[in-house]
Amino acid sequence: MPPPFKLISTDFDGTLFAEFEDPPIPRSVQELIGGLQSQGTKWIINTGRDMSSLMEAIGRARLSIEPDYLVLVEREIHVHEDSRYLGLEEWNLACVRAHAGLFARIEHDLSRVVAWITDHFHARIYADAYSPFCLIAGNNGDADVIHAYLDDYSRTVPGLAIVRNDVYARFSHTDYNKGTALAELTRRLGLGPDDVFAAGDHLNDLPMLSRQYARWLAAPANAVEPVRRRVREQGGYVSEFSHGNGISDALQAHLQTRPHKNAP
Ligand SMILES: [Mg+2]
Repeated sequence: MPPPFKLISTDFDGTLFAEFEDPPIPRSVQELIGGLQSQGTKWIINTGRDMSSLMEAIGRARLSIEPDYLVLVEREIHVHEDSRYLGLEEWNLACVRAHAGLFARIEHDLSRVVAWITDHFHARIYADAYSPFCLIAGNNGDADVIHAYLDDYSRTVPGLAIVRNDVYARFSHTDYNKGTALAELTRRLGLGPDDVFAAGDHLNDLPMLSRQYARWLAAPANAVEPVRRRVREQGGYVSEFSHGNGISDALQAHLQTRPHKNAP
């Protein structure tokens, strides 16, 4: 019987990759994903990292399998071709344009937003190629309060979203996230949400951990509570194992379940 999922979307850090484990990506999950790929399933690493940071981590992890697609910075799509990853220009250019327009609209608010944060907290704030506002909070408690403040602000600007991962946050466009990028690849492959498995561990994964995009949802044991709750609420699988061992456990559990495609 062919595997029930034809597309697998996994977050990287904390979902597959654990910096201090040896190996950082367990062999069991590499073998499982590689086996599914040999049966035609495509695999996306769907991450907040940029290209150089992801390639460096993949190299260090001595990954033995090759993702078919990358979603980088939670929004840009790259396709594996001839041992290189090429940007999906149609999507990526539209993404760059949408962000340029959005960031121009908030330019004059930024000093006020930054002043509020620095008045209340010790935090690192900077701009990079992907966002005029990037935050590293001192701890998760500070990040929660700043996140709530930024959420209130973002409600005043159409299209503005906060992307949060642990103590890190940045601005983004609501049309471009791990979920919409996954939907675009699903559409391009001629597939539907019933064919898709998605797994993640943190808040920036919530946009793709939705039955709107993926029938087969999973989270490792180390996932933050809002992620575990969201996955459970939608009938997904929360493993009792952490990181990559949790994902290999979830893949096997879903492979064994194999409900009929049209089952509720
Ligand atoms: Mg993660």
